[in-house]
Amino acid sequence: MQIYADNAATTKMSATAVHAMLPYLAEIYGNPSSLHSVGQQANEALCDARARIAALLGCNAREITFTSGGSEADNQAIISAAIRGAAKGKKHIISTAFEHHAVLHTLQKLQKQGFEVELLDVHENGLVTPEQVRDAIREDTCLVTIMYANNEIGTVQPIPEIGAVCREKGVLFHTDAVQAAGHLHIDVKAQNIDMLSLSAHKFHGPKGIGVLYARRGVWLENLIEGGAQEHGKRAGTENLPAIMGMTAALEDACANMERNNAKLIPLRDRLMDGLSQIPHSILNGDRTSRLPGNVHFCFEAIEGESLLLLLDDKGVQASSGSACTSGSLDPSHVLLAIGRPHEIAHGSLRLSLSAETTVEEVDYMIEAVTDVVAYLRSISPVWRDLQTGKQTFAI
Ligand SMILES: *Cc1c(COP(=O)(O)O)cnc(C)c1O
Repeated sequence: MQIYADNAATTKMSATAVHAMLPYLAEIYGNPSSLHSVGQQANEALCDARARIAALLGCNAREITFTSGGSEADNQAIISAAIRGAAKGKKHIISTAFEHHAVLHTLQKLQKQGFEVELLDVHENGLVTPEQVRDAIREDTCLVTIMYANNEIGTVQPIPEIGAVCREKGVLFHTDAVQAAGHLHIDVKAQNIDMLSLSAHKFHGPKGIGVLYARRGVWLENLIEGGAQEHGKRAGTENLPAIMGMTAALEDACANMERNNAKLIPLRDRLMDGLSQIPHSILNGDRTSRLPGNVHFCFEAIEGESLLLLLDDKGVQASSGSACTSGSLDPSHVLLAIGRPHEIAHGSLRLSLSAETTVEEVDYMIEAVTDVVAYLRSISPVWRDLQTGKQTFAI
């Protein structure tokens, strides 16, 4: 059996998305900026895609900027708010310790340029509260940026409530909704969101394409100078095939969201219950306020990389959580942020399901993880020390 359980890292493109792209690769190849009919045909498709994406997010087409993906959208949102804030003498930015690196590294760069970045503590359940945001907002706060759903442990933040606090205080609110888009209901107006990032390859669309929503009146800085594409806010000939694929994928995901989630949530819960039976294991992130397809555990005395390799041998493609930190020996910043000790954080496993996952696959994964954990412990000196009492269990 081959089971792809790494949908939080990227997803397989849907047939709908592939079909939506095909005509724009070879037939409708014009440059949307060209005045002739071939270009105008492409421009019509571009306008249509922008309006369809806007309709799905609950905003106006003018408020949509196409980017090269989630990372670029995060960078542009944060840098824009920082530049605008600095011009008004506001250089305080609020975020959390468990954001994606596209947010955290942008904030670190701004910190070096004199911005004060305050990272809110994340509770052990992987959630921050609107009250924490309220308490942290100051006169000189120019931006609150908090992710919608966490890419490692899957926790879903109270975004509308956080947005309401920001609105009341007159502070810009950006959310990295890359894990949420296509999986959870988004309505930027009703949810008080000023800026939002999403990325197509996390909802069965193509890689290298994303969206930055910025509410009308929110100023954007160009990160890429050149032509006047994207209302002059993002130069470069539009990646129309990818834009069309993303639009079809998002429509598909939103249309089937309720049905997909009604199927996924029981599978996720079955997987969580099965893995909880493994001795000295712990679920990361709140049990219910989490993405419908995310399961994330830590196991005592297990080295995450070995677990992943042996699972791959059994046909299960999983992740330790962060695609960006795999290959490095640093434990995940997300697990440290929710207070897991280093030695536990190293033994992490993320299984992220898709609407195609079956109950048979879930049962196979429970069995495979249980077997691999037992095997790795049987050859682990740390496990032996825990058994003989030379070391004490952390979980
Ligand atoms: C994948 C991801 C990103 C980066 O998106 P890309 O399109 O790969 O640049 C940013 N934030 C979160 C939460 C993600 O999961």
